[in-house]
Amino acid sequence: LFITFEGGDGSGKSTQAELLTAWLGERGRAVLRTREPGGTDVGHEIREIVLHHRGDITPRAEALLYAADRAHHIATVVRPALDRGEVVIQDRYLDSSVAYQGTGRVLGADEVRKLSLWAAKGLLPDLTVLLDLDEVVARGRLNAARTRYDRLEAEKGEFHARVRAAYLELAAAEPGRFLVVDAAAPVEQIAERIRTRVTAVLG
Ligand code: C5P
Repeated sequence: LFITFEGGDGSGKSTQAELLTAWLGERGRAVLRTREPGGTDVGHEIREIVLHHRGDITPRAEALLYAADRAHHIATVVRPALDRGEVVIQDRYLDSSVAYQGTGRVLGADEVRKLSLWAAKGLLPDLTVLLDLDEVVARGRLNAARTRYDRLEAEKGEFHARVRAAYLELAAAEPGRFLVVDAAAPVEQIAERIRTRVTAVLG
């Protein structure tokens, strides 16, 4: 079972992914918790380039860097775990690429989705949890928990609104795969909604 968490920065993806990981673990499931970009040693280096490179990276080069990270991560970490029967819980996957590279910037959503699917040999999640958060609320949270969001400074306002709209559009197009939750709700309430859906998917 492959579960991905999507949403803007500060939407609580990691918190919810960790809560779900712990909950499944308590129920005796083998769980692999991972992330993109950066879930492998190669990916970690790619993540450093994309997030911290001091100059511009052209949009196509950036999309290819994320795709390279994804290709390596899916082939060496995610597929093997799924083959072993583990549940994989991952922060960000192809919907991030489509939302950020495909719509937020100048590349087309279809092109970016095709590139991602090519990189991942067609692997789609069984469930994608979209933590939908108003960007003003998100900014407030990030400012409160200030860490290393240097990149965020350059990506404010309108860009985040477009990414959010892109995510919602993706969710509307594939309601069977997506669970959209209001990320402004209390943490435990969100966790409960996610557990209910995961229980249904696990059957
Ligand atoms: O993984 P994390 O939430 O730390 O993501 C860091 C940033 O990487 C995001 O805010 C986003 O700007 C960028 N990103 C992206 N395209 C992806 C994945 C992440 O632009 N496919």
